[in-house]
Amino acid sequence: MKIDLHCHTLASDGVLSPQELVLRAENMQIDYLAITDHDTTTAVASARELASRVKIINGVEISTTWQGFDIHIVGLWFDLTDQAMQNALNVQRETRSWRAQEISDRLCKRGLDPVYQDAARLANGGAITRAHIAQVLINRGVEDSFVKVFNKYMTRGKPGYVPSPWMSIAQAVKLLHGAGGLAVLAHPLSYQLSNKWLRRLVNDFAQYRGDGIEIGMPQIKPDHQRWLVTLAQEYQLLASVGSDFHKPMPWRELGRYLALPDNILPIWHQILPDIELQH
Ligand code: AMP
Ligand code: MN
Ligand code: MN
Ligand code: MN
Repeated sequence: MKIDLHCHTLASDGVLSPQELVLRAENMQIDYLAITDHDTTTAVASARELASRVKIINGVEISTTWQGFDIHIVGLWFDLTDQAMQNALNVQRETRSWRAQEISDRLCKRGLDPVYQDAARLANGGAITRAHIAQVLINRGVEDSFVKVFNKYMTRGKPGYVPSPWMSIAQAVKLLHGAGGLAVLAHPLSYQLSNKWLRRLVNDFAQYRGDGIEIGMPQIKPDHQRWLVTLAQEYQLLASVGSDFHKPMPWRELGRYLALPDNILPIWHQILPDIELQH
């Protein structure tokens, strides 16, 4: 069985439409795919309608604020029609628009032309992200790669970094549980936290009753994966897998490079029992 519990569409900063994503997932022979756009669930239902072989799992990637860091929580198997959840996601998307405008203003003070209008056009009604702003700067030839734009302008401490009032981790977990779903700490190694701070994050996430942590992901080093397994075991968290696919590129593909060691319980063990993971 092939399963991937983290990917994006045009509804946020992915480049494929729900239809294109489903087609790609079916070509990759994926059995279960969670669509987890940033702070929106609009792609999920249309993807499910278009799917034949692949089963679409309800998903979302919620931005949260923890100790001054932006931490992403992947929500899975929750009720898409839950009103408290949808109201909270609406607020998050308003915060995203506000932040994009604020980033634009701050970059203007550094001599760049305004980026908000072009970024909003790229987002095309979906959740606007820093990836859209980065794409505008690349299209204009200001920088030639995402990494350069992020490192020069949009990460913590850089001129276009805007700390944002996202919901708390506790609130994200509560909303997901209220809607019958599960909460997963996304890409724990992407926050540039020291081991001590990562442990603190995992500890707090577990205290808030979070359910799982991403452990199977492309390009994770074996010793890093072992460290995440140790943390998961210590804090009794389940293991999740996710490509975080945004667009076709080598080394990041739907359902691929997501192996889990067998000394940890996968997050789907009760929901999809008796299934062996293959990658
Ligand atoms: P946002 O949720 O608006 O803060 O945007 C975050 C998105 O930007 C992530 O989901 C990635 O797609 C992308 N991103 C974040 N950091 C980087 C980075 N350092 N280099 C390239 N892309 C990044
Ligand atoms: Mn993204
Ligand atoms: Mn993320
Ligand atoms: Mn993601």
